[in-house]
Amino acid sequence: MNDLTCIIIGGGHAGLAALKAIQEKTRGKAGGRRIRFVLFDRQPWHVRKVMLFRPAANEEDIKIPWTDLSLEDFEFVQGMVQSVDSSEKRIRYTDAQGKDARIHYDLLVVAVGSIVRRPNSDQGGIALTDPQAAADIRERWRANMRQSVGDTNPEERKRLMTIAVAGAGISGIETSAELVLAMRKEAAALGIDSSDVSVYLLNEKERLFPEGPEKVGRKLEQALSECGVTVLHNRKVMREEAGVVTLNNDDCLTVGLCIWTIGLIPNPVLGGMDLPLTSDGQVLVDECYRVQGAPGVYSIGDCTRIVDPRTGKVDQMTCFEGGMQGGRLGKIVMADLEGYPAPIHKSSRSLIDVFSIGLGQNRGLLWSRKWGLDMIITGKIAWKLKKLAWDGASMLR
Ligand SMILES: Cc1cc2nc3c(=O)[nH]c(=O)nc-3n(C[C@H](O)[C@H](O)[C@H](O)COP(=O)(O)OP(=O)(O)OC[C@H]3O[C@@H](n4cnc5c(N)ncnc54)[C@H](O)[C@@H]3O)c2cc1C
Repeated sequence: MNDLTCIIIGGGHAGLAALKAIQEKTRGKAGGRRIRFVLFDRQPWHVRKVMLFRPAANEEDIKIPWTDLSLEDFEFVQGMVQSVDSSEKRIRYTDAQGKDARIHYDLLVVAVGSIVRRPNSDQGGIALTDPQAAADIRERWRANMRQSVGDTNPEERKRLMTIAVAGAGISGIETSAELVLAMRKEAAALGIDSSDVSVYLLNEKERLFPEGPEKVGRKLEQALSECGVTVLHNRKVMREEAGVVTLNNDDCLTVGLCIWTIGLIPNPVLGGMDLPLTSDGQVLVDECYRVQGAPGVYSIGDCTRIVDPRTGKVDQMTCFEGGMQGGRLGKIVMADLEGYPAPIHKSSRSLIDVFSIGLGQNRGLLWSRKWGLDMIITGKIAWKLKKLAWDGASMLR
């Protein structure tokens, strides 16, 4: 009998979790047929997206070859998937040589994720969108610091050593903490005054971390201030031009660099994929991640709108949610293959709400809430747990 082909589009955190879970639950077989697993990604490596801010501060490679993951027994195809023909059960993609190609699937998991939101082109600055942007950011602030060494004008020196981070979600918090520490280290290496280093974190909301209790927001702000980050609340960056950042209250900051960390949007490639989408561009699925009107097609992760049918709660675009969905998808696929009722989605955050935030080398904060009780861990232990979460999400060996 022919093999069944299970294709996963997208080797991000959700796609990898799905691949692992489907392999484990099916043990590579269904109804006596072997399942052939094929992972498609447009890139030749897995990007550890949750760590995107790290190479903006330090030289660190967050691109992992597929062969270095703890997953086995799958084929990898580098290709940009263009569309899904659900009536013919085929996907169309552009291969690594730029040629148009098609491949049949029996089972398909769409996990093409999200992209980082960019400001308008006239708003200046650099958005932290991908590893190349992170490397450009690092180059820029390091060049500014080298330039400041020979500058005799104290105001200009200060400007060159100042960064504004626009957007104070978790990635903005992590980016500003890593940057201030890396810049101070660089200042010491260059023999310049590290107290001239300034990092501003611009928060358009009233406080940090609206996802959790106020006290966690306060603790984060205190930790940021201890490492040298100044948080400005109710302040939105309107634009950066020639080293001047203009805020929504018309105040200005003079900076050497402005970095945008303003969140994620569903991958725009979905617009041409012939899948049912919400008005925000996420794939529409039922409570078992099945794509409506497309037998054998499932969708999870940032690219999907997933709602808990019991509470109406919509899953957020996070690695935590994507990983939990991937794990459940293994059981769902198995149930659908064997013809018994599949488990339905339950918001992971209704079981346990957890966020961990890195605050630079050896510092972090983990908050979790279960049965209405808050638990907060800070410092080295929180950092170690964060590292474990990063490694687990990327299925490192
Ligand atoms: C700086 C930063 C920090 C973050 N920190 C955290 C955190 O601390 N905790 C947390 O839970 N979440 C965090 N997130 C969010 C988290 O990164 C995302 O929720 C998570 O990456 C979503 O995983 P995903 O697999 O759905 O999508 P993605 O990670 O976006 O992966 C999608 C994959 O699909 C591939 N792809 C895209 N289009 C195609 C195509 N047409 N054909 C083939 N392949 C394609 C991409 O190359 C990519 O490998 C952070 C995000 C950022 C940017």
